[in-house]
Amino acid sequence: MERRKLVIIGAGPAGLTAAIYAARAYLAPFVFEGFLSGVAGGQLMTTTEVENFPGFPQSIAGPTLMEGMKEQAQRFGAEILPEDVESVDLAQRPFLVRGSQRAFMADSIIVATGAVAKRLDVPGARDGEFWQRGVTACAVCDGALPIFRDRELYVIGGGDTAAEEAIFLTKYASKVYIVHRRDKLRASEVMAQRVMEHPKIEILWSHVLKGVEGDEVVTGVSLENLEKQKEIAREAAGVFFAIGHSPNTKFLEGQVEIDNQGYLVVESGTTHTSVEGVFAAGDVQDKVYRQAVSAAGSGCMAALDVERFLTAQGT
Ligand code: NAP
Repeated sequence: MERRKLVIIGAGPAGLTAAIYAARAYLAPFVFEGFLSGVAGGQLMTTTEVENFPGFPQSIAGPTLMEGMKEQAQRFGAEILPEDVESVDLAQRPFLVRGSQRAFMADSIIVATGAVAKRLDVPGARDGEFWQRGVTACAVCDGALPIFRDRELYVIGGGDTAAEEAIFLTKYASKVYIVHRRDKLRASEVMAQRVMEHPKIEILWSHVLKGVEGDEVVTGVSLENLEKQKEIAREAAGVFFAIGHSPNTKFLEGQVEIDNQGYLVVESGTTHTSVEGVFAAGDVQDKVYRQAVSAAGSGCMAALDVERFLTAQGT
């Protein structure tokens, strides 16, 4: 089996920044570009304009930014394969990393598997019901589908993702409702302002989704008005979950310290996990900042931590 000094699991901003640094340090990293977040390249692949990544004053499209990072990593010799990691064995070094087609022995590993959008477990929204037949967790991926055109759509959540998805959907929908369980948005001021001023968006404050109805596709939603403790039924063509994310750590369970929300635990101020030689970067270990630029920053930190670790090991 092929042995590598470094295997990077994940190819979002964290994994690819780590790959750029590690490749420039002649560590010849192998990068598994998995699909755990839905598409290869991480969450930015399903984002529209990124307005806050420094260096792009006119904003940059998420996929364009990711393509650039990938090309940059490859230019310095990182090898990137679109394949999910199925299992790892961290019991001894070199570690074992098994993908669906290739497997490696690795002297060090950077886990940068990111996080995946959460869904609400309500009647009608589950697999085999209307999930992917009008219920989705990605407006950018699915918003342009004909079933949503000139129809009323519901975005669930009150954070930046909900705001961003609602604004995006106004391109296609006749009207977009944001269903938020509280009376104040969690979204940043600038995004909150944009949705509140948008003529096609209405926020249903203190409402929760109780169920999704339909025939072949979604035709309606049941909501509860928490203040009036009253259920209402509305016509709807689509439901878009924007209620946060879960870290992709299932394949690591029992092998490395994971907190009660599923995030990888790192030693404060570093990217060291509980297993020597295994490092973590990006959203998989960050429940606070979760930005593309902070993920990229922690990817850089992870590559530098790996370099020091391998040097200390004499590898
Ligand atoms: P988030 O900030 O955690 O917001 C999740 C929202 O979903 C909250 O409003 C939350 O309600 C609601 N929610 C969570 N669980 C729920 C449930 N079971 N039922 C109903 N509602 C529920 O997640 P996010 O919006 O995905 O943002 C994540 C991070 O990415 C943030 O740091 C954000 O700033 C960043 N982000 C930035 C941009 C941008 O700058 N363009 C775009 C997207 C995301 P409560 O408010 O009541 O908790």
